[in-house]
Amino acid sequence: MDFLELEAVEGLRWSWNSWPTSKSEVSSLIIPLSIMCTPLMQPPELPIVPCDPLNCSRCDAVLNPYARLDYQSRIWHCPFCSQRNPFPRSYSDIADTNLPAKLFPTYSSVEYAPAHVPSSSNSLLSRAPITSPPSSSSLPPRVLSSSFSSSSSLVSVAAAAADPRGPGLGPGPALVFVVDLSSAEDELRALKKELLLVMEQLPENTLVGLVTFDSMVYVHDLGYSECSKVILFHGDREVSSNQTRQFLNISHAHHQLHHGQTPVVPKQGYLLPISECEFSITAAIEEIHCMWKYTSGRRPLRSTGAAISAALGVLESCQINTGSRIMVFTSGPATLGPGVVVDSDLAQAMRTHQHIMNGHARHHEKSCSFYKRVSKRLCDASVVLDLFACSLDQVGAAELREPVERSGGFMILAESFESDQFRKCLRHLFERDDGGYLKMNFDATIEVVTTKDVKICGALGPCVSLRKKNSLVSESEVGEGGTCMWKLNTLTDKTCIAFFFQVSNEQKIQPGSAFLIQFITRYRQGNLGIRKRVTTAARRWVGNYSTDIAAGFDQEAAASVMARLAILRAETCYARDVIRWLDDTLIRFASKFGDYVPEDPSTFRLSSNFSLYPQFMFHLRRSQFIDVCNTTPDETAFFRLMLNREGVVGSLIMIQPTLFQYSFDGPPVPVLLDIRSIYPDVILLFDSYFHVVIHYGSKITQWRKLGYDRDPNHENFRKLLEAPELDAQQLVMERVPVPKFIRCDQHSSQARFLLAKLNPSVTQNSTYTDGSDVVFTDDLSLQVFLDHLQVLAVQG
Ligand SMILES: [Zn+2]
Repeated sequence: MDFLELEAVEGLRWSWNSWPTSKSEVSSLIIPLSIMCTPLMQPPELPIVPCDPLNCSRCDAVLNPYARLDYQSRIWHCPFCSQRNPFPRSYSDIADTNLPAKLFPTYSSVEYAPAHVPSSSNSLLSRAPITSPPSSSSLPPRVLSSSFSSSSSLVSVAAAAADPRGPGLGPGPALVFVVDLSSAEDELRALKKELLLVMEQLPENTLVGLVTFDSMVYVHDLGYSECSKVILFHGDREVSSNQTRQFLNISHAHHQLHHGQTPVVPKQGYLLPISECEFSITAAIEEIHCMWKYTSGRRPLRSTGAAISAALGVLESCQINTGSRIMVFTSGPATLGPGVVVDSDLAQAMRTHQHIMNGHARHHEKSCSFYKRVSKRLCDASVVLDLFACSLDQVGAAELREPVERSGGFMILAESFESDQFRKCLRHLFERDDGGYLKMNFDATIEVVTTKDVKICGALGPCVSLRKKNSLVSESEVGEGGTCMWKLNTLTDKTCIAFFFQVSNEQKIQPGSAFLIQFITRYRQGNLGIRKRVTTAARRWVGNYSTDIAAGFDQEAAASVMARLAILRAETCYARDVIRWLDDTLIRFASKFGDYVPEDPSTFRLSSNFSLYPQFMFHLRRSQFIDVCNTTPDETAFFRLMLNREGVVGSLIMIQPTLFQYSFDGPPVPVLLDIRSIYPDVILLFDSYFHVVIHYGSKITQWRKLGYDRDPNHENFRKLLEAPELDAQQLVMERVPVPKFIRCDQHSSQARFLLAKLNPSVTQNSTYTDGSDVVFTDDLSLQVFLDHLQVLAVQG
């Protein structure tokens, strides 16, 4: 079975492609029944149907190619629950020679894009009952440099709809930019330049807001063009969404939205279409300066938590339902107010993993519980939180991980706002489609429907359980469980969720029969249309002990699923306990699926579709996802967040990086991720997803330093140097966040990025080193690991 080919069509990777019929047999598989699902993966052919899907009246499954159609009586039999559903009148001419695309058996996925009602007609309905203009008695508590002109703060969304560049469109997604004023001046300069570029290119109907912070939080009123006006919040207090609304004097829009109707933003000046406030937001960004006066022994005062809370309050008050995100740009840890990470006093060191594990990280728990509350608010209001941290020090990404991850937000940890990494990421996020709209999807749900013998246990990834239970939901939960529906505040065509299943024990399942799983992903596309992507996949039940079970094992999918389970465990357990669990699982797995004579390790064999799995586990257990010795809590949070949303191919590069060798002997070849792959006369290209390293052997380095590549007589050498460069560019091109790119010479300090990841087959303890590099480590080598595994597996 070619699992990659199948994935390209279905967007799914199954750990097991054939399922046994009993619960006991499922648990003896050791690795759970799971599917790595990339709901919006772009298949080679995706029919787009301009209407709503037809749902089964009993189980809500969408009509699909597996349904039995009865043309005579105009009925379709639901393949999930056997319900007989009548076809609506619009299907009157359906016949086996006239099938709609959604019933073609070749399409696993169908996208439904009902044309949304043009908003120009709705805006007439929604213009009248907005709110009254603010009276002077209800002005916010503290207003700086105000020049009141009541007319300028009045917003009409209809104006955005009438914009010639966005005809027929209501307000676009709302973006609140949250900027840290305690960043160094040159950093702020680089950031401002990028932000201004973003403003220039935003579609005109995009709603924008600006919040800045140091020890105070400044919410900018963009409705004033004459001068700048801000509302001030104390940075040391946690302010509820209601209090924020009162301070900002925003009244709720008091009417229900009907389906398809253009949402109405209440009149205020904190969130305006860019077409109306381009001048004031540009001016406000240009005016941003470093507010921190250097004081020896102190960290700058930053009220990051309060600023995020205020930005969220603005979005909650305006009840945006066109999708929204809060984008935080910061250069250091919060030292004040809710979400504080470290004291301003430099005598207090930044927390480490050790501190957190031992309960010695003073603010950690309190900060995490604040962000848990923020996370809940983000989910309720469908707001995405992005963190752009550009700093040499930690900023508190570990504390911020929960709201960023659960809202599907973007996280990058770079060193500087001037870095390529930061610029490329920001520009990628603001890419536009052919129609000029932002390529952002918002406010999604994924619903899973299965045939009755399959039970849904849960999901791992950037999603939240909606606790919607039905008879298909299993009592045993994995990750976000207890539901058949999950919420995702945003997702891209790469977002991948791991779903977990169990087999029902209630009825006897007939081996050889098929079962179905359907994923219904509803999401709001950047251009405001609601879409539904429906993917239906079928697999077979097979008898217990059938050889089909092993034949359908996808070791790459299994490794990615186990990686997600391992990092989930690592949140609450010590690394050594996670490693013990991984080892124990692997031994039982090898014992079940290996071929061997009991008690004789030399006879141990694994068939080809199992043979790489132990290696994946070897690399996983020593990876930075589990072993946190050499990483900060912020880095660990970032690595785990990324692994928890990446598809199978990307996850595997993270777990077991790739290594290619370039030499004069021929085209580049993949080589073992082993210290013995380093030779003086080769170049290595290493890719661990987060780092791409070009490593020059010592001879290559010498030749390069002598300038041979510039000598026309050594054209071959120039080409040899060029080849990995070109390939590296290719690797980096599609990847976001952009990996850190390192060029290093053998024996240089930068080579550590490569050495740390290589199998330590030759260490300081080796008796015979063969002149190759030596890794100073006490880690097990792969061979020793596999030898141990064989010994333990054959013990049964
Ligand atoms: Zn049904």
